[in-house]
Amino acid sequence: MARDGHMTSELATGRSPPRARAAARDLAVSQVREVANAGFGAPNLAKFWFGEGDQPTPAFIREAAAQALAEGRTFYTHNRGAAELRAALGDYLQGLHGRAFRTDSLSITSGGISALMIAMQAVLDPGDHVVAVTPVWPNLVEIPRILNAKVTRVGLRAEDGIWRLDLDELLSAITPGTRLVLLNSPNNPTGWVLPPEDRAPLLDHCRRLGVWLLTDDVYERLDFRSPGAPGSFLPDSDPEDRLISANSFSKGWRMTGWRLGWLVAPPSLEPEIGKLLEFNTSCPPDFLQAGALAALKGATPYIDELRLELAARRDRLWAGLNAIDGIATARPDGAMYVLLRVMGETASVALAKRLIAEAGLGLAPGAAFGPESEGWLRWCFATGREAMDEGLTRLADWMGRRQ
Ligand code: PLP
Repeated sequence: MARDGHMTSELATGRSPPRARAAARDLAVSQVREVANAGFGAPNLAKFWFGEGDQPTPAFIREAAAQALAEGRTFYTHNRGAAELRAALGDYLQGLHGRAFRTDSLSITSGGISALMIAMQAVLDPGDHVVAVTPVWPNLVEIPRILNAKVTRVGLRAEDGIWRLDLDELLSAITPGTRLVLLNSPNNPTGWVLPPEDRAPLLDHCRRLGVWLLTDDVYERLDFRSPGAPGSFLPDSDPEDRLISANSFSKGWRMTGWRLGWLVAPPSLEPEIGKLLEFNTSCPPDFLQAGALAALKGATPYIDELRLELAARRDRLWAGLNAIDGIATARPDGAMYVLLRVMGETASVALAKRLIAEAGLGLAPGAAFGPESEGWLRWCFATGREAMDEGLTRLADWMGRRQ
């Protein structure tokens, strides 16, 4: 048994193999990945399962990073990002939200995921209670589990073709024993957007109880109701609120592979955020930060065009899905996803795998985002129109011959 050398020594010593701690072992495996892995190697698949488009980052951003790399910007920067980039982020946010932001409230992170991790490392203790609006991108509710905090889910419900939040249910779930509320709007996977009239009661409730509100704003520029970032809590908050906004360059600028994001947090957290960044990633690569600087400076009109294009694709996909007999949908107001149901099907992972094998179509299973979206499938509409039309044809054909 040479191949299992460790097993031989295990038998010899009577010891069990080394294992990670329980919180790490208990983390859920991504069911989007499970389905995607089942599809790798399948020829000619039309894939819409990941949250990204098929176009690279705009050239003006890539060129800025390439130039910085050519100039030798290959050194560490400040933990919270290069001063020039933080200043530009402050200007960008002021333009968007109509109020000034102190630079000690801003930090550049390694993607939206790192912004969320750092924020939660800064405020969560083991045993803390977190309330999350779900279904949601699974990483958001797994991070508290890494930190040994407990998550209570408040589920959106699809009613009359629209996802809705029961605000009273959310407010009553947030008690004096709650440490943190997690809110992602526009939401992945539903495309749900928090109604503007729900913002003030939620913020007031958190203020009264001294509860942290962490908003995952990575889709804030992809809100189809109006330009800008109409759903943000930042304009109505003051810098000492227990409010943290996690954001990313990934979705608004097509920069998923760059791993760049940012945090807006009360300035009183600045020392801890700096230390946590040091111990997690130290800082994002300097030459990539040059790309982020170009992205912020060129945000308008680039993002407005992207938003309009995505809204048009949403309409096209929406109409295409609703034209297929046996398909039900709930209309998204933002982000880049539509959830759909196939009548009579309730197990989304099995259904997603069948669609790969029988229709050549790659969709993400709703179960990956929580029990609230089990039975649904998520279709990302950030890909080009031709690919989308081909996907719709495959789905319609499959529905026609489905057993
Ligand atoms: N938050 C949500 C809701 C997301 O859907 C994603 C990515 O899909 C992220 C955060 C992470 O963004 P990033 O790729 O910048 O880490």
